[in-house]
Amino acid sequence: MTEETLFTRIRDREIPSDIVYEDDEIFAFRDINPQAPTHVLIVPKEVIATVNDLDESRAALIGRMFLVAQRIAHDEGIAESGYRLVMNTNEGGGQTVFHIHLHVLGGRTLTWPPG
Ligand code: AMP
Repeated sequence: MTEETLFTRIRDREIPSDIVYEDDEIFAFRDINPQAPTHVLIVPKEVIATVNDLDESRAALIGRMFLVAQRIAHDEGIAESGYRLVMNTNEGGGQTVFHIHLHVLGGRTLTWPPG
């Protein structure tokens, strides 16, 4: 865990944030520029730059990120009303921080297709 990203600095409490979940492998915090009433980012503690860098060895980790999303959606009271899970990939996909993260968005009606 030597590589630094914006999110490792949040992980290491060098940048303040509203952390809503943490375990040995994963942490989650509120997005600083929320796009919906609930907007939480779920991030592996280990730096993986993009979805393109995943392999079989990370399959369980990615699965656990979705279980964390399920738990956050429940805790935020949006599990039944509905929510969206998004992992932007590379510039064309809207990724700005190259440390994979799952956006949890909910608390309003979300339109489709995204912009
Ligand atoms: P993406 O564009 O998919 O890479 O998402 C990066 C997200 O990180 C954006 O939604 C930003 O608003 C969010 N973000 C950037 N800096 C911070 C910060 N210091 N604390 C919380 N969220 C942040």
